[in-house]
Amino acid sequence: MSNYDTLETTCCIAGGGPAGIMLGYLLARKGVRVTVLEKHSDFFRDFRGDTVHPSSLEVMHELGLLEELLRLPHQRVTSVGGVIGDYAFQGPDFRHVPAHCKYIALMPQWDFLKFLSDRAQIFFPTFNLRMQHEVVGLSHDNGRITGVLAFGPAQQPLHVRADLVIGCDGRHSIVRKAAQLPLREFGVPFDVLWFRISRRHGDPQRVFGTVNYGKALILIDRADYFQAGLIIPKGSVEEIRQRGLDDFRKTIAQIAPFLDGRVAELKDWDQVKVLTVQLNRLERWYCPGLLCIGDAAHAMSPAGGVGINLAIQDAVAAANILAGPLREGRVTEADLAAVQQRRELPTRITQAAQAFLHKGFERAFKNTGPLRAPWQIRLFWRIPGVRRALGYAVGIGVRPEHVDQPQQAKYGPAGGPAGAVRRPRGSRLSAFAAGIGTGLGVAVTLLRKAKAPGRHNSSRLAA
Ligand SMILES: Cc1cc2nc3c(=O)[nH]c(=O)nc-3n(C[C@H](O)[C@H](O)[C@H](O)COP(=O)(O)OP(=O)(O)OC[C@H]3O[C@@H](n4cnc5c(N)ncnc54)[C@H](O)[C@@H]3O)c2cc1C
Repeated sequence: MSNYDTLETTCCIAGGGPAGIMLGYLLARKGVRVTVLEKHSDFFRDFRGDTVHPSSLEVMHELGLLEELLRLPHQRVTSVGGVIGDYAFQGPDFRHVPAHCKYIALMPQWDFLKFLSDRAQIFFPTFNLRMQHEVVGLSHDNGRITGVLAFGPAQQPLHVRADLVIGCDGRHSIVRKAAQLPLREFGVPFDVLWFRISRRHGDPQRVFGTVNYGKALILIDRADYFQAGLIIPKGSVEEIRQRGLDDFRKTIAQIAPFLDGRVAELKDWDQVKVLTVQLNRLERWYCPGLLCIGDAAHAMSPAGGVGINLAIQDAVAAANILAGPLREGRVTEADLAAVQQRRELPTRITQAAQAFLHKGFERAFKNTGPLRAPWQIRLFWRIPGVRRALGYAVGIGVRPEHVDQPQQAKYGPAGGPAGAVRRPRGSRLSAFAAGIGTGLGVAVTLLRKAKAPGRHNSSRLAA
């Protein structure tokens, strides 16, 4: 490695997505020297979810950043609506979650990441973000990971030596591959075609999903346009392309007739991005000198829109557990195991719930005619408390994490007084809803486990 430039740091984070930037911020806030390597030159890239959930907004509140964050353009989603064939319903209701923000903030992911990384760079001298630095491998010494190998903007090789490497480089993680951490894949029956279509006065607001004619369409309100996602059976992209753009436009108008006059805006396949969906999880998230979190440890599907939140919660837990040992130069494998132990159950339950939703999509794909919602679904949405419980399960999630020493950031841009941040106390109803939310997740996991023997291995979820 004689031709490599060398950089010394305490913690090297590979990947500047929600997990990497949040973890970098939190560790630097605790005085840890941290270097984040992000392969892109900016945060602007394909749509990967725009949702900042109540529990993530709570983390921002605990960091004293909420007020300023909410000055960025965003929409507030207090509930999610949907149509299944002939049946319209209101889904998860976030208005009662035990958090300061009782809504999901729809905000472009690049705005959120830029906001947080800018603040980290301004407030904390130990935070070092290097854009256009692609991690290509790991360095080892005596069976221990000692750093990463990367290429900078002009392809110059760089060796970052670190006490700990944290892989936050997403679902195609180079870090986890290089460390040969054992991965379990769970089959996903669909992919998503993303595109934009204009929005008009009187259209559905916020987030809206519709399932019919063997397809599902998600529309996310972005003020003057919809970020739209057509959910298609896995591997059917080529077939859809071959049938032509006109057929694609007709499909959209068939599922969402109010878009009929606007589908002509789709003039070229370049306007339609294919995103292959994965669901997987590492069996072990760490090895000596290395830990993976976020999608690098467990790729999440877009079902339920919870992946960003889970990545942020992982980052909070990792920072709470590792900041002290990192600062004192005494990180052990037991500390890394503690992070996996803390975050594995929420991940398993959330992935089991996503796999359950995938099964629903699979069934819907089989009926290519007009869909009639089954009575079980109609009954389900009438159960008292179910919308609140799902609002909790989606908005807060299983085992929400809280920032260690939550006080207004010392250099708080809002200039708020330093001091302890009050956590909203959950009402008894919220606690009840939380119980149902968690119970639903556990029930889904157990049901899947009970049915597992007859299934194909690749689609099984370990519970
Ligand atoms: C189509 C689609 C829609 C989704 N919609 C939602 C949604 O609405 N809400 C939601 O919560 N979740 C959604 N998700 C899931 C969500 O995107 C992920 O779960 C979440 O982004 C994970 O965050 P992360 O930081 O772990 O990884 P990522 O967001 O994938 O970030 C990884 C970062 O690492 C960088 N990187 C990768 N490789 C390298 C390398 N070798 N060197 C340096 N940098 C590297 C990448 O450029 C990226 O910035 C969606 C996923 C898909 C596929």
